[in-house]
Amino acid sequence: MTGTFRAIVLTKDDSGFKAQLGALDDGALMEGDVTLAVTHSTVNYKDGLALSGSPVVRRFPMVPGIDFCGVVESSSHPAWKKGDVAVLNGWGVGEVHLGGYAARARIKGDWLLKLPPPFSPAESMAIGTAGYTAALCMQAIIAHGTTPQSGALLVTGAAGGVGSVAVALAKAHGFHVIASTGRESEAAYLKSLGADEIIARAELAGEGRPLGKERWAAAIDSVGSRTLANVLAQTRYGGIVAACGLAGGNDLPTTVLPFILRGVTLAGIDSVMAPHARRVAAWKLLAEKLDRQKLAAMTKTIPLSGVFDAGKAILKGEVRGRLVVDVQA
Ligand code: NDP
Repeated sequence: MTGTFRAIVLTKDDSGFKAQLGALDDGALMEGDVTLAVTHSTVNYKDGLALSGSPVVRRFPMVPGIDFCGVVESSSHPAWKKGDVAVLNGWGVGEVHLGGYAARARIKGDWLLKLPPPFSPAESMAIGTAGYTAALCMQAIIAHGTTPQSGALLVTGAAGGVGSVAVALAKAHGFHVIASTGRESEAAYLKSLGADEIIARAELAGEGRPLGKERWAAAIDSVGSRTLANVLAQTRYGGIVAACGLAGGNDLPTTVLPFILRGVTLAGIDSVMAPHARRVAAWKLLAEKLDRQKLAAMTKTIPLSGVFDAGKAILKGEVRGRLVVDVQA
């Protein structure tokens, strides 16, 4: 198998940073024991960062795209054979290893997951890292022992990718779901996914008090900064906050009071290096609990050339739900 394949390529040299749709030679593929024809990818917040020239990319040239689904073309890995359909999330792909915005990828077979039924390749990317991270957050909440009887579940950045899947998953688990959004116009959308109450982003964005009224037993936060501090301050006694994002900033101006006076747990969620077994469990949770009609309702499909605009939009918080990239289009 030799030739060239279509790819979005990031370069950085004396003339500066460039992100362009072009072609790569097979010789450019990196080390790995499985080669795949990529059919679908997606646009996550981190992909927006990569396309903007952010230091999340630590090797040039780079193909961005931290997720992909594809068909195995060749493999020397015992778990994979020609024709298998596989899903890749994270592991530094699109950051230090060539990623999913290309028609071909070569990867370590240990990083791949079998496409979890009942999802199609496009659906697996409608979920993508954002959805799989929402599932990791749900798992942390369940493992903590927090149930719908404990109280409500808050989702911040609710109209975004992680947020949209988190709203649908929390509802499927029976929680009273409070969705925080900066986009009032998305209230009907969020209710259709399962939100019982909508609160304005601004309500959690101010300086806030170290402890406030106890409003929720659990939270999934993709915003960070003051929002996370306020979420912690309003979490019920013994509750849990799963923190996975920094859409509002990477600082955390909080006090120890929610932890030492209310026994609140702050659970850190990382999808990139999560061990294989945890990934399999997260995808199982998605297969069992995520309503595929809701998934379709939160998803838009774009061609490979569309990722440049989509990357800019996601960094501005303008993308609703999830974007699938049809890599062949
Ligand atoms: P999206 O852009 O789709 O969603 C983020 C949402 O946050 C926006 O839609 C918006 O929701 C809200 N938001 C945006 N800017 C601000 C702001 N300045 N202040 C408050 N809220 C804001 O991104 P993703 O869902 O893909 O990712 C969300 C975050 O999670 C990112 O920071 C990403 O890096 C992180 N992440 C982390 C992972 C991990 O492994 N820990 C994995 C995946 C994502 P609304 O309009 O509804 O308010």
